Amino acid sequence: MSALKVLSVASEVFPLIKTGGLADVAGALPAALAREAVEIRTLVPGYPAVMAKLVDAQQAHAYDDLFGGPARILGGKAAGLDLFAIDAPHLYDRPGNPYLGPNGLDWPDNAQRFAALARVGADIGLGAIDAFRPQVVHAHDWQAALAHAYMYYADRPRPGTAITVHNMAFQGQFPIWIFGELGLPARALSIDGVEYYGGVGYLKAGLRLSDRITTVSPTYAREIMTPEFGMGLDGLLRTRAAVVQGIVNGIDDTVWNPATDVTLPQNYSALRIDMRVRNKIALQTQMGLAPEVGRPLLGVVSRLSDQKGLDLLLQALPGIIARGGQLALLGSGDPMLEGGFTAAATSTPGSVACVLGYDEKLAHLIQAGADFIVVPSRFEPCGLTQLCALRYGAPPIVARVGGLADTVIDANEAATAAGVATGVQFYPPAVESLTYALNRALDIARDPTVLRRLRLNGMRSDVSWRGPAKRYAALYRDIIRPAE
Ligand code: ADP
Repeated sequence: MSALKVLSVASEVFPLIKTGGLADVAGALPAALAREAVEIRTLVPGYPAVMAKLVDAQQAHAYDDLFGGPARILGGKAAGLDLFAIDAPHLYDRPGNPYLGPNGLDWPDNAQRFAALARVGADIGLGAIDAFRPQVVHAHDWQAALAHAYMYYADRPRPGTAITVHNMAFQGQFPIWIFGELGLPARALSIDGVEYYGGVGYLKAGLRLSDRITTVSPTYAREIMTPEFGMGLDGLLRTRAAVVQGIVNGIDDTVWNPATDVTLPQNYSALRIDMRVRNKIALQTQMGLAPEVGRPLLGVVSRLSDQKGLDLLLQALPGIIARGGQLALLGSGDPMLEGGFTAAATSTPGSVACVLGYDEKLAHLIQAGADFIVVPSRFEPCGLTQLCALRYGAPPIVARVGGLADTVIDANEAATAAGVATGVQFYPPAVESLTYALNRALDIARDPTVLRRLRLNGMRSDVSWRGPAKRYAALYRDIIRPAE
């Protein structure tokens, strides 16, 4: 079987440039899909962080004028990825966050910057580069979504098209005047094209015009077809329900491997699970918690934002402490939440500790030392923290939304009797139901046999990219068009 050629179009790709999960997925898919006989090349804007790492760069195509200046497509490699980078200094030669200027606001020309990314993606899709003619173009999020509009309205044979939504909260909506700069035919400005409530909707266009739509978990795929989660696009998604699919993300199970993780005080595996307690003591000691092995220790590693529901945990905290529980929290974000957890740590030393900031090493230690990891998100397209927690034997306590619903098996009576439970779920994301779930977890913690079973089930569940890669490969093979 010859390799299927796919162009992945993404505005960020790990490890070169990252603000969120989109970068992780775009960075992980090529290696995972190589095992499925899929050859992925990733098209990214030539930000300084990309250009600095690009090696063996060769010009593959040139533009006299790409949204206001000359540009080149460079083929090359960086961080093990096969890339096409758009060398267009007038659009992308800006350091730091790919979307925000130094004042913390969106760059005023983001509409043009990401229309350019999409335009180049479409050009490669339509055959601009002889040496790489993709059979599928896979666009990620609104920044790449217009690629499908450019190909659709080109009225030429085109490859199969897929779009993945990583977070419905970001849609790329712009005023109507931008349409004049996009270079699309007038008929594209319709309700069946790029028009959206009197403006231009980039994500909307991609969702309307692509062969397939994916999002990062089956439950989120269903949720975004409802007004509560669809953020205005639920109606359109319902009309396209037949082509909407959810594929959960994986994690890199070589980076996240408790048996080999060099950052841990103590390595362990499912077979040597009893060694794990040494990490708990190290974590308690490092964070200034009372080093008492018998106290149930909850861990949190998270952005502190409304989405993540940690205000609910803050409210539930006194009840946990009253029952002898402890909390180790690592996170940063909302100043109100930062202040709240800091105050809790000050008023109940030994029971609550928090570190404000981003710290990969401490994140690993919390996953390896906590008894449970709490993820009370109000919505969660996929979520990675709970996948790491499963792998590290810290049963997740999660709100039953989005990817959290799909990746954790609640320790209800049936699942426990069948020996398949991996954590605790609750719904709705509210203080009462979270409190109930935390109390269930504390009961479990008192029963070493049940807790051990939960840990082992989680550690044995497959959270790697292998399963997701097979699903993406199957989707790609479904949408390739027969050779002309
Ligand atoms: P989101 O992308 O919405 O922030 P995810 O759970 O999908 O949430 O992915 C976030 C990843 O970043 C997780 O692996 C999480 O553990 C990690 N992370 C979040 N905050 C921190 C932090 N302060 N320090 C280290 N890692 C963090």
